[in-house]
Amino acid sequence: MLSELLSSAVVVSDLPDPLFKSKGVQVQLLRLDQIDPVLSGNKPFKLIPNLQRARAEGFDTVLSFGGAYSNHIHALAEAGQRFGFNTIAVIRGDDGQPDSHTLTFARARGMKLLRVSRQQYRRRDEPLFIEQLHAEHGDFYLIPEGGANQVGVEGCMQLATLIRGLEQPPYHEIVLACGTGSTLAGLVAGLRAETFVRGIAVLKGAEFLRADVAAWLTQLTAPGSIRASAWAVETVYHWGGYGRYPAPLAEFIRQQEQQSAVLFDPVYTAKLISAVYQRVAADCYAPGTRLLVLHTGGLQGRHPS
Ligand SMILES: *Cc1c(COP(=O)(O)O)cnc(C)c1O
Repeated sequence: MLSELLSSAVVVSDLPDPLFKSKGVQVQLLRLDQIDPVLSGNKPFKLIPNLQRARAEGFDTVLSFGGAYSNHIHALAEAGQRFGFNTIAVIRGDDGQPDSHTLTFARARGMKLLRVSRQQYRRRDEPLFIEQLHAEHGDFYLIPEGGANQVGVEGCMQLATLIRGLEQPPYHEIVLACGTGSTLAGLVAGLRAETFVRGIAVLKGAEFLRADVAAWLTQLTAPGSIRASAWAVETVYHWGGYGRYPAPLAEFIRQQEQQSAVLFDPVYTAKLISAVYQRVAADCYAPGTRLLVLHTGGLQGRHPS
């Protein structure tokens, strides 16, 4: 039941910009945003294997962490209800603001929300804090922020299977947005260096991601099987930092959406598309290059409120 979602057929669509045409670069989108009406994007690839693990270990409650607009929390709330788990989320910020649309959705799916101060939220990986949560909320299976644990990264290896199954000539490069880098790590591990994979960091100062991804790869693959030259993380396309969405970026995305009839989210895929555009404009790709850009979803984040 749980894994059906991940094996569903995925559509590829063109991103038809005149610049791409003039440079002779083909840009196609892997539409993970369309794999399900609600549980779409990259998050189910991490969450579903975690829920399978939780079930196998006898847990009926899952706890995780995220911000008030988190795609991960949104997906966990939906998956929890669909597959029969109680869900609890520790939410960053207790500033007295009313619930965001994401949190309203999560509550409606039966998720218990614990809003904590930013200071407390920083303790999310401390054993003592987790112990307190257990004392107050009983037994639970813990999924770290963003679904970024080993089970989640292994789940993202399925993306490689999915890409191999596409009836398309091989791509020269796969490009995707990075938050924790766990999707990138899973994809690189799954592809075993067949295709170059480039991550576009949406956080400012995300140089740490290179070490994080390398650490995941060490855990998941045989020593020496993944060359360091098989992947890269770009750290200059963040537009000021996580959650920042300056007007010129918004205007660029509005045009891309009009041209392509595809919607993008402001936090991840907008910066991804803009980075691809900037790189093509800067002649980073030879004519004839074929790029596969992962549309990792996040469209719940476009809600106006
Ligand atoms: C979470 C998310 C990402 C980042 O995934 P990581 O595995 O944390 O790097 C990218 N795009 C969207 C839309 C997301 O929700």
